[in-house]
Amino acid sequence: MSKKKLAIIGNGMGTCRLLDELVARGAPFSYEISVFGEEQGGAYNRIQLGKVLGGAAPDAIVTKPPEWYDRHNIRLIDRTRVTRLDTLRKQIETGDGQQRAYDVAVLATGSQPIVPSLEGMNDEHGELKPGIFVYRTIGDCLRMRERARAGDSAIVVGGGLLGLEAAKVLSDRGLHVTVVQLQKTLMNAQLDELGGEMLARQIERTGIFVRTGRTVEAVYAEESVKGVYLDDGSTRPADMVVLACGVRPRVDLAKVSGIPVNRGIVVNDALATEVPGVYAFGECAEHAGKTYGIVAPVWEQAAVLADVLTGQTPGQRYRGSKLYTRLKVAGIEVASMGTIEPEREGDEVLQIVEERRHSYRKLVMRDGRLVGAILVGNTAAAATLVQHFDRGDLMPQDPLELLCQSAAPANSGARLVCNCNKVSEAELCDAIERGCDSVEALGAATKAGTGCGSCKSELGQLLARGPKKLSLPLVAAS
Ligand SMILES: Cc1cc2nc3c(=O)[nH]c(=O)nc-3n(C[C@H](O)[C@H](O)[C@H](O)COP(=O)(O)OP(=O)(O)OC[C@H]3O[C@@H](n4cnc5c(N)ncnc54)[C@H](O)[C@@H]3O)c2cc1C
Repeated sequence: MSKKKLAIIGNGMGTCRLLDELVARGAPFSYEISVFGEEQGGAYNRIQLGKVLGGAAPDAIVTKPPEWYDRHNIRLIDRTRVTRLDTLRKQIETGDGQQRAYDVAVLATGSQPIVPSLEGMNDEHGELKPGIFVYRTIGDCLRMRERARAGDSAIVVGGGLLGLEAAKVLSDRGLHVTVVQLQKTLMNAQLDELGGEMLARQIERTGIFVRTGRTVEAVYAEESVKGVYLDDGSTRPADMVVLACGVRPRVDLAKVSGIPVNRGIVVNDALATEVPGVYAFGECAEHAGKTYGIVAPVWEQAAVLADVLTGQTPGQRYRGSKLYTRLKVAGIEVASMGTIEPEREGDEVLQIVEERRHSYRKLVMRDGRLVGAILVGNTAAAATLVQHFDRGDLMPQDPLELLCQSAAPANSGARLVCNCNKVSEAELCDAIERGCDSVEALGAATKAGTGCGSCKSELGQLLARGPKKLSLPLVAAS
């Protein structure tokens, strides 16, 4: 029997994981798999882009070099944009005018940066003038890197995760950096006002200037950017401007192909679009009215889609993901999960503010269970809190016990250490007992630490504790 043709469009972090999941299920024996990627080369860890902006070679973040595809009999068609799917004839049309047949297509086109319309920022072709950048790809980082010289000044528009990360890397390269954030506080999607203010204070201590409640109205540029006009009438010189104003799902391809789109490409629990033979997942997809902007849900979807496409676990379905973010923002530990403010009458809030230690911790509880938490500066309790949040466990009589713990409790084997890959402490202990003796070895064995990497220090601590103390039960008492 001839193999079916599976075309995956987009070669980002979602596809990278989907390919692993497909290979693990033997899909290359039943499918002829092609991956179309607009960017050059194999898939890379987009979360680590800061390394490339900071000076590392692009290869340092590549997770699948082209040989990997060859080795697994997968065709990588890079530097190729898919422009349309003819879903009736089952043909893929690419930017170079070619057409290729498919039986099953997966859209994994990710997100694109939101570019605000600022006076003076475009040239006569509608392109961003030299010195103005977005931050999404290796190409963006290489261009920024070429421009950024120590002693220059940069304005970063947007005080969310990406903007703060870009600000930190540019500041570390010796630039004078100002972050301009329209909202009253930083990272307003993940932090409440107090948390955002604490973060801003700490970020300013690193030498970055933060202006909140302000925005850039226009750009002053000659051949290239020279400065910006803020909405309070003031001006600031700038040798570069980084636009980090959020992302939106990339749905252009789906739209021209007649595949139903809302905010993202609409999919059901099997990650199927309404058009037979076309699936979508990752940041481009909208499931149950939700789109996601971090990698953990994308990887959960990849596993379900691989089950669906290979028929290995019939009936496997994606039911949505609980959002949890743990990050190092400009060097400062931050964790956030669920709701950040009480929403219903009876919701209980517990807050600890330690001004001198630059730490802020907050819990939101409903009916004795955790529905949200914010940790800035001290994330020691993060993994235990996420376990309660994820499983809906009852909180202890005195929730302060959880919030104030400086290390994981003894019987915490089920505690998630790597949230991106959902790897528990017990699995890591097991891997260490089987001989994994470095963070890299743990990553290879369990995938822990291969997403955002914020758990790597904890992996190091587990390794330092040694195997003997680590024989913990797989399921913790709750
Ligand atoms: C700087 C930065 C830092 C981040 N930090 C974190 C973090 O700390 N933690 C976290 O969880 N997440 C983080 N993220 C988000 C994370 O990178 C995304 O959740 C993840 O990459 C989404 O995977 P995806 O496959 O859906 O999309 P992407 O990785 O964006 O991949 C989509 C790919 O499809 C390609 N494509 C699109 N349209 C076409 C087409 N028509 N034809 C061919 N190719 C096409 C694109 O060029 C792109 O390569 C960060 C993102 C950035 C940019």
